[in-house]
Amino acid sequence: MERTLSIIKPDGVKKNVIGEVIKRFETAGIKIAAMKMLHLSKPQAQGFYAVHKERPFFDSLTDFMTSGPIVVMVLEGDGVIAKNRKLMGATNFKDAEAGTIRKDFATDIEKNVVHGSDAVETAAFEIGYFFNGLEIQTR
Ligand code: ATP
Ligand code: MG
Repeated sequence: MERTLSIIKPDGVKKNVIGEVIKRFETAGIKIAAMKMLHLSKPQAQGFYAVHKERPFFDSLTDFMTSGPIVVMVLEGDGVIAKNRKLMGATNFKDAEAGTIRKDFATDIEKNVVHGSDAVETAAFEIGYFFNGLEIQTR
């Protein structure tokens, strides 16, 4: 069974779409195996996005990710990494397909409502960044 990390970013929490995002996961048959709300510090956001540390948007992205609380979830299901990415839509909401989370709720290439792991290896790192084994439920 595959797992992926999902984050509802600070803009998604501020826009009151936590329930809407979770509803889309559940409707798609994805199970939530772990969930919590937290507010990242700047070093915690930098550690999470370390792969992007050379990118020009790194400082702005990590500021944004610390601008308010986020909801982090472990999603579980067959092919859930790709399934979640499809539900999210393209990074830039302008390029996202109709009916995707980012097309419906994002307002900015940076403030794009959700994060989703992009591969098995990144999912393992990202899940371990936020959750220990006891916090992840298999059902
Ligand atoms: P995520 O990793 O958040 O799921 P993604 O995989 O679609 O999104 P990445 O290329 O990994 O996109 O970029 C990580 C995040 O950095 C994006 O979700 C977005 O918030 C921000 N970002 C990406 N490209 C840009 C850009 N050109 N300008 C500003 N912010 C950007
Ligand atoms: Mg990414």
